[in-house]
Amino acid sequence: MSFEVWPPPSDPELAWQERALCAQTDPESFFPEKGGSTREAKRVCTTCEVRDDCLEYALAHDERFGIWGGLSERERRKLKKRA
Ligand code: SF4
Repeated sequence: MSFEVWPPPSDPELAWQERALCAQTDPESFFPEKGGSTREAKRVCTTCEVRDDCLEYALAHDERFGIWGGLSERERRKLKKRA
């Protein structure tokens, strides 16, 4: 095996994750237990600079769990239906 490029280049589709605000906060608030509060996670998302990329990624990959781009799974489903 050759390691000409090390570390390997990261997936450009995921480059936005390097600027994800949630990475600096409590990740558990983004994946609350059923019925748990999503308010804190959504509050963080409102100030996240990669919110659009995050939401786009979640919609494209049909992410089922957690808060992505400031929306819950149910909110993302509604958004997809409207599109
Ligand atoms: S929009 Fe929210 S879930 Fe997405 S990266 Fe930013 S903080 Fe994380």
